[in-house]
Amino acid sequence: MAMKRHCAADLRPPRVMIQTLGCAKNVVDSETLAGLLKQSGYEYVEREAQADVVVVNTCGFIDDAKVESIQVMLEAVRWKQAKHGRRVFAMGCLTQRDGPEIQAELPELDGIFGIGDWSAMLAALGANPMSMSSSSSVLTMYSGKAGPGSAYLRISDGCSHACAFCAIPQMRGLYRSEPLDKLVDEARLLARTGVKELLIIGQETTSYGVDLYRQRMLAELCRRLSDIEGIEWIRILYAHPPSSPPQLMTELARVPKLAPYIDFPIEHASARMLKLMNRKTSRSKMQESIAAFRDGRADVCVRTTVLVGFPGETDDDFEELYDFMSEVRFERAGVFTYSPQVGTAGALLPDRVEEGVALDRLDRLMKLQKQVCLDRHKQQIGETIPVLIERNVREASWGRGPWDAPDIDARVRVRGTLPPGTLHQVKITGAAAYQLDAVPIESSALSRGESCGNLALPVLSR
Ligand code: SF4
Repeated sequence: MAMKRHCAADLRPPRVMIQTLGCAKNVVDSETLAGLLKQSGYEYVEREAQADVVVVNTCGFIDDAKVESIQVMLEAVRWKQAKHGRRVFAMGCLTQRDGPEIQAELPELDGIFGIGDWSAMLAALGANPMSMSSSSSVLTMYSGKAGPGSAYLRISDGCSHACAFCAIPQMRGLYRSEPLDKLVDEARLLARTGVKELLIIGQETTSYGVDLYRQRMLAELCRRLSDIEGIEWIRILYAHPPSSPPQLMTELARVPKLAPYIDFPIEHASARMLKLMNRKTSRSKMQESIAAFRDGRADVCVRTTVLVGFPGETDDDFEELYDFMSEVRFERAGVFTYSPQVGTAGALLPDRVEEGVALDRLDRLMKLQKQVCLDRHKQQIGETIPVLIERNVREASWGRGPWDAPDIDARVRVRGTLPPGTLHQVKITGAAAYQLDAVPIESSALSRGESCGNLALPVLSR
């Protein structure tokens, strides 16, 4: 039963705004908190000017993210000081790791919480912790942040690996899969609200099930999700190469509604760097897994992420990575430069790479990748693909095709205005490195444009 709380001044429910920094996993945490607060009688608002309480959901992944989180907390403190009665809380990866230091630096914060500390957070906010205790369920309020017609489905949290550049396991703990039946129920509820695309996320997704079921269950989960009416695309993000043997990749490629896409972050390709990074895989094993996915299905997209400038990376190591990227020709790729993270093995390694050298390497890889993307896009001219419309700008609609995840990949510009959250078949008419141009094919079944519905923050219980 929801507890009714009201602001003394005007007898209206307290209003909360959550500022989310970092990755999609943090978006899901914010959605969970929003759902719990709504259940406790809070109203969720989009702008801090409308709020009584601001919660900053911090990110501690890399230095830039930490700096941004601290800046946002400072702004929130200034917002609080401008009017009596306002409150500011902080949660997330950065506070999980550096909570005492942040509290000492920013005593104006009304509370600091780690990850998943829902009872303590609700109590501090004056909400009702009982709202989550009755059935040990967690409530999620979908924010639509993945875009119209899309929702994140977080299948696990934590990570039991120890990549030498990554502080995530310290912040999020050991790998924990969500029960398969619960995820299917959640996806069914999402489909009923009009969601067409499920974005499968976790710190890494290909180990799904090993803790609960003693075997990899990602393919089985995706098959069950494929059976849900209304779901059109299942998109896998954050595969972990050492946990993605060829057999799993072949199985995944055959899942009926799997978008022809996998996010497969290799990080590096030289044997020496993979060892220093503690990746527990090899260039040949990754090649086999990629080949298995590509062989299992025609015209798929393999996205990757690489890290340059890790301590000890020589010119030869970089050339090996460049050679691998040239050979595999990933359809999508992101390149990052290394920054040391406190408490990780990488931070203790000698032979740091100069920043200028790392930036040159990033530049070379991005130039290579830009050409690969352009070549692949040119080959698509004249093809028909489905596009999920995200927004209208003047006389055009912008959306994503099967090879594009939200925020990180390319976009498709479709002539004319089509409703956001609907899927349409379009014909590709033009290509640039990070954009396709297209016209709708009005006769197609999909272009009747079944609406992805109103994603007006449904509250779902898991
Ligand atoms: S798999 Fe590696 S990079 Fe990914 S979260 Fe775990 S430790 Fe970090």
